[in-house]
Amino acid sequence: MGAVVFDRQITGEGTPEAEWQTWPGLGQLSRIALDELVPPGRRAVVVAPHPDDEVIAFGGLLALLAARRSACHVIALTDGEASHPGSRNWPPGLLAKARIGESLAGLRQLGLPPHSQSRLSLPDGRLAACDDRLAQRLAELLRPGDVVFSTWQLDGHPDHEAAGQATARACSQVVCRHWQAPVWMWHWARPGDARVPWSHMARLALPDNAVRQKIAALATHQTQLAPQDTGAPAVLPGFALARMLRGFEYFMPAGNAS
Ligand SMILES: [Zn+2]
Repeated sequence: MGAVVFDRQITGEGTPEAEWQTWPGLGQLSRIALDELVPPGRRAVVVAPHPDDEVIAFGGLLALLAARRSACHVIALTDGEASHPGSRNWPPGLLAKARIGESLAGLRQLGLPPHSQSRLSLPDGRLAACDDRLAQRLAELLRPGDVVFSTWQLDGHPDHEAAGQATARACSQVVCRHWQAPVWMWHWARPGDARVPWSHMARLALPDNAVRQKIAALATHQTQLAPQDTGAPAVLPGFALARMLRGFEYFMPAGNAS
């Protein structure tokens, strides 16, 4: 990680979900309705740096859009081959194959058809190094008027930040509305943290059945849920999952993201 992410470190267990839940500010974030977030008739495009981000940040949104029969497209940037460094059970090629399968199974749980995904297979962990190519590929896949969702450009994970920045560039080129979602922010930030633009954040309420679909979709990502054969813990341990399975999803309009 470079100096740029120094104050947004993803180490240890991060801020416990109980701390977020006791912060009154969380319940005071403004609400946004689905029709306002993605007006009917508009295509929603989700940009996922790694297989599982489409579920963690946008699973409820995608389930609601699928139920509304809205056009949805997921752009998978990497195949997630770098999540198990040094693993004998999961060398990068095998891991990538497994994670592509997990992602497709997860999208099925959300009600999306299999052809609703484009896969760029860019290098996991090194998106920042190919940001021009990434922005170019995204611009080719987007259409004017799409409502585009990506990870937040200050999320703390270098790939999430590169994805947010490249998506912002592509959206201003093609002219699309762009929303950015925090993922690892919930880990490194604290309630009321001055580094987070809380006043610009909008939250989408998820009905119980959308949360259930999101949980079922995340459960397909078995490689991320099990402890690793190297002795490393699961990529998504229980304390991280607790922050990812709330009854809301959170979005910031790009442009107010810094
Ligand atoms: Zn990710």
